Amino acid sequence: MNFADLGLMPELLRAVSDAGYTEPTPIQSQAIPVVLAGRDVMGGAQTGTGKTAGFTLPLLQRLAPHANTSTSPARHPIRALVLAPTRELAMQVHESVLTYAKHLPLRATCIYGGVDMRAQMETLRAGVEIVVATPGRLLDHVQQKSIHFGQVQMLVLDEADRMLDMGFIPDIRRILALLPTQRQSLLFSATFSNEIKKLADQMLNQPQLIEVARRNTVSETIEHQVYPVDANSKRDLLAHLLKGAVDTQVLVFVDTKFGCSRLAHYLNNCDIPADAIHGDKNQQQRTEALEGFKNGSTRVLVATDVAARGLDIDDLPYVINYVLPSTAEDYVHRIGRTGRAGKSGKAISLVSPEERGRLSDIERLIKLSIPKHTVDGFVPGARGHSDERARARGRDGERERGRNRERNRGDDTRSGSRARSDASPRPSGRNSRSKSTIAADGFDYSKPYQPDTAASATNKPDTAAKRPARPVAFLLGGVGRKG
Ligand code: AMP
Repeated sequence: MNFADLGLMPELLRAVSDAGYTEPTPIQSQAIPVVLAGRDVMGGAQTGTGKTAGFTLPLLQRLAPHANTSTSPARHPIRALVLAPTRELAMQVHESVLTYAKHLPLRATCIYGGVDMRAQMETLRAGVEIVVATPGRLLDHVQQKSIHFGQVQMLVLDEADRMLDMGFIPDIRRILALLPTQRQSLLFSATFSNEIKKLADQMLNQPQLIEVARRNTVSETIEHQVYPVDANSKRDLLAHLLKGAVDTQVLVFVDTKFGCSRLAHYLNNCDIPADAIHGDKNQQQRTEALEGFKNGSTRVLVATDVAARGLDIDDLPYVINYVLPSTAEDYVHRIGRTGRAGKSGKAISLVSPEERGRLSDIERLIKLSIPKHTVDGFVPGARGHSDERARARGRDGERERGRNRERNRGDDTRSGSRARSDASPRPSGRNSRSKSTIAADGFDYSKPYQPDTAASATNKPDTAAKRPARPVAFLLGGVGRKG
């Protein structure tokens, strides 16, 4: 089957051929005729299946009779609304709309939060047929009366399950209430919980169910691997694996924003160019991090789940779960970044003993027993394990430590004072390492985080024990505390 067999118009066939697509993916062959016929759709499709083109191409064809080059805003009312859960996904869908609409005079824009509303208002005022938006910012525009839904004839709700996870369902219901009841609606979701079904009942009219992959299944072109490892050895194992896979781009998933920046920092210190993307970064930083990764200038992108959706990179060969996600479905979404459109990919998970329960949930969901691999020196709970690590670090990290020594020369007072305040005996090798790997923010990269128990070991009263040996004023150039 080819795209012409699906009844697509020449302008769209040209755009598809410009994009290099030769034949439709299964979701496209199923969804395109149904949407062209004006039916509502409930689509079960995972990311990477080509579902964006599956709904965008027929949507454009349905709107094509309204395409015009008039400069009058009145000739360009909003006719289609596409809702996506994250800014990144919205931007990506918008990009796809522009790609497929390149031979049609239809206007499209992308509306998301975290940026000034004024430019968005300008675009809306000038008239635009297709709006791709995140729900929150769309409602901001509703409140500002800068958006009008009176002519909306098509609605797409993409990644509905993620909308649910992110708490957007009340916003979606609010938006639904503002749309004309006479419209065509499409809902896409990788999973169908009861809540999603309830939303579908409310939003769709006698929908055609289209499901291209079994629910919660993962692409067969992905090879899964698990590396059992102690939590405090993960960083070193990650650096070791990344060094062994030179020249490959890797997306690394972590669980917290804080851990995200910290891990990227650590990798950079190991000479592995890495950037971080998470929800606390501003929009420009997020866009730049994504762009750097997409254009290949960043080798490793460390991400929280905000990037699990919407990130579409050609031929991404590796995804690494530095921490397993708390819900098994998120594993499917995360690794959906690799093995796309039939290409092969690797999904590697570093699994600490504490995460075994999560691993079992994932294996049950994807109906696979994931092969376990070990690397010498990183076997969890093995005797002499930290010595192995030290040796590994000795091989890999000497240059890094030299650099850190240079970098931290100006920070000597601080690290020196920490060392003096530490009354508990430590193995000498570890102590000497700790001096040379203290980052600018005071974090010691040579060892896992430990609460500072040194002071309490001296049996001083509690209040004194909590205070640092030298007050901050001393570090700032003032006098030291007596005693
Ligand atoms: P999606 O699942 O919509 O995120 O699409 C995943 C990737 O598949 C995107 O990079 C698309 O450009 C690509 N793609 C979509 N349809 C096709 C097709 N028919 N042939 C080849 N690649 C496609």
